Amino acid sequence: MSDRYEILVVGAGPCGIAVGAAAKKRGVSCVLFDKGCIATSLVNYPYYMTFFSTAVMLEVGDVPFTIPEAKPSRREALTYYRMVAEHWDLDVNQYQEVVEVSGREGDFTVRTREIDGREATYQAASVVFATGGFHHPNYLGVPGEDLPKVSHYYHEPYPYYDQDVLVVGGSNSAVESALELYRNGARVTLVHFLDKVDRGVKPWVVPDINNRLEKGEIPVFWRHRVAEIRPETVVLRSEDDGAETEIQNDFVLAMTGWRADHGPLRKLGVEIDEETGKPRHDPATMETNVPGLYIAGVIAAGYDANKIFIENGRDHGGLIVAHRLNGR
Ligand SMILES: Cc1cc2nc3c(=O)[nH]c(=O)nc-3n(C[C@H](O)[C@H](O)[C@H](O)COP(=O)(O)OP(=O)(O)OC[C@H]3O[C@@H](n4cnc5c(N)ncnc54)[C@H](O)[C@@H]3O)c2cc1C
Repeated sequence: MSDRYEILVVGAGPCGIAVGAAAKKRGVSCVLFDKGCIATSLVNYPYYMTFFSTAVMLEVGDVPFTIPEAKPSRREALTYYRMVAEHWDLDVNQYQEVVEVSGREGDFTVRTREIDGREATYQAASVVFATGGFHHPNYLGVPGEDLPKVSHYYHEPYPYYDQDVLVVGGSNSAVESALELYRNGARVTLVHFLDKVDRGVKPWVVPDINNRLEKGEIPVFWRHRVAEIRPETVVLRSEDDGAETEIQNDFVLAMTGWRADHGPLRKLGVEIDEETGKPRHDPATMETNVPGLYIAGVIAAGYDANKIFIENGRDHGGLIVAHRLNGR
């Protein structure tokens, strides 16, 4: 099969959908591919989470996000982004991974693969990578990390009832999972290499976690790192004096963040800043140093994924479509 589009978007997360909506609004032909479903990243969030952003700040494609509360739940957001795709009648191909992009501006060839192995190629004048930042977990890099009791995802507390769970990290993900686990019958311990929870933790969650930690309801090892994961225990090492402590353990939840895969961009000649991890691009147009190749959403943030999220990554679509229409 071979079709030709003005814009081909790799990734149908919130920011990829925003590109599709912007293209549709301006009458530009556009197709989207996602290796999973629409907004796969949100599907993988903790099931009962609430966004830190208000619904208004998460809106894309001029579609109102109307809910009775200020901040939406994961389920409300999943419904919303699906509705945006439907509203603009976007051409979204789910479960079709983009495995190769080649060619040049005006004449890119994109090869895709479906779950059953079927392949197809498409032609596009321009390609937008809206592939997000959730490709590889930030591994702890310690012995035992490959044990089945270790996970870099947290969905819900129920599998951990009456279990010794170590949560690694001090970010929103670590703090919120620790609190949920504590309230649902897990014996949870927190370990973090700093001496307090991260600055970005939702302000309304900070008193709750700090109270639990101060009262010893959630034991915490500040300024410690995981040194080794064993089948029935975990060894923690002090950052200060290297002293090791071995604690009982059934599960490890490594809430240490994720990284984007820059491999496909590098292969196409996009320069990646080694220090920041940012693909070289013009923030006014989101075009990379390779003409006709664009980035949208959190992939533009580099290693500091907290700098770009839906609230500001949603604007990239409009910039890209304007550049395709006016900039050439
Ligand atoms: C727990 C949690 C809470 C958050 N809360 C907020 C919040 O309140 N407000 C906010 O603004 N942000 C929040 N974020 C951040 C937000 O989720 C991300 O910034 C957002 O998902 C970025 O959207 P995106 O479209 O750039 O990338 P993603 O949503 O990650 O979408 C990328 C898509 O690309 C697809 N893909 C990747 N590679 C390929 C390929 N080769 N072929 C085809 N498809 C591919 C993936 O399957 C994925 O669907 C939160 C994140 C987490 C983890």
